[in-house]
Amino acid sequence: MSTLYEDWVDFAHLGPKPAGSKMNEAASQWLEDSLKQEGITSHQHRFDTTVWTLKNFEPLKMVESDQILESYPAVGSSSGNIKQGLIERSGTTNIWHMYQWPRYTVKNHVGKVIAHITARPDGPPLSQTLLETWNYPHLFVGEDTFREWEALINSGKTPTVSFQIETEITKKELINVHGIIKGTNSDLPPLVIGAHFDTMYNTIGAYDNASGTMVLLHLIKHLFDKPIERDIHYVFFNAEELLLAGSKAFVNDFYSEKDSLNIMINIEGMGRGSQVDIWSTNPNKIKNLELLKSNFDSLHQITPPLAGSDHQPFVDVGHPAMMLTVNDQEIIHSRRDVPQSEMVKNMKILYSYLEKITV
Ligand SMILES: [Zn+2]
Repeated sequence: MSTLYEDWVDFAHLGPKPAGSKMNEAASQWLEDSLKQEGITSHQHRFDTTVWTLKNFEPLKMVESDQILESYPAVGSSSGNIKQGLIERSGTTNIWHMYQWPRYTVKNHVGKVIAHITARPDGPPLSQTLLETWNYPHLFVGEDTFREWEALINSGKTPTVSFQIETEITKKELINVHGIIKGTNSDLPPLVIGAHFDTMYNTIGAYDNASGTMVLLHLIKHLFDKPIERDIHYVFFNAEELLLAGSKAFVNDFYSEKDSLNIMINIEGMGRGSQVDIWSTNPNKIKNLELLKSNFDSLHQITPPLAGSDHQPFVDVGHPAMMLTVNDQEIIHSRRDVPQSEMVKNMKILYSYLEKITV
């Protein structure tokens, strides 16, 4: 059996795995094959959703200086050919109800809005999925561009930009990979444990979320022939980055009734750093926290959990849920999200912790 590290690097380097892409299919096949090699049967949970694909992107450029800016199309961006557009401030963009980031409109020479650009004011550029209706070409830029534009606008100037973007929106059938590890007492409601394996289109997603996916895969292999008490229902979610489409469909088809499960555990992003975050519905129900406290400098608990990952559809039904993460905002949803040794260290700690709380 390959090590956690080997599998992680291998899986991450399949490439970006956005929902609906060829590599997304290959990734779910990779997971099924890996389980099968250990004699573990998994199932495909199929669901229909709307997927967004980036066909072509000519980068964002400052027209006056020809300077190319690091920018990423939003998932949900429409197509558009912006040969020349003027930047104006125009309110904010809502990011998972967690942040309000400053927004600019791009206007043409007669003052008509032709695109939106959202600036992350406190970090590097990244891609994000729009919560709002997908009506306009929409890009994300980072802190450096935000500062540059603010300085220009404050001195009475109007930045002029160009870019070209071609996107496609289609209906597709997608696959969550799931299965059950049998416990000794089938009267007990199962524990559900999940991690999403899809990524944004612009990253191989070593941290978000190949790290969580591989921790879950190795946990399943480890627990498979162990005497555990309650059933464990494991699931590799697809389309987390498409507004949780995979976990929404999964809850809808298997766990739409309250009290049908013990707790849902979501493994999301084992990044760099020495702070572990637990988002949970009930902090008093979480066991073995000492093990985490002794391995991390700090433990940060958020109750109730925020909405931005696959525990949320479970929380919406009223299920107990917790999300485990070592949050790494510097690299998320960007090409900077590649394997780094500090993540492996954290993956191993979280693996040991999950092993303790799931048996
Ligand atoms: Zn994620």
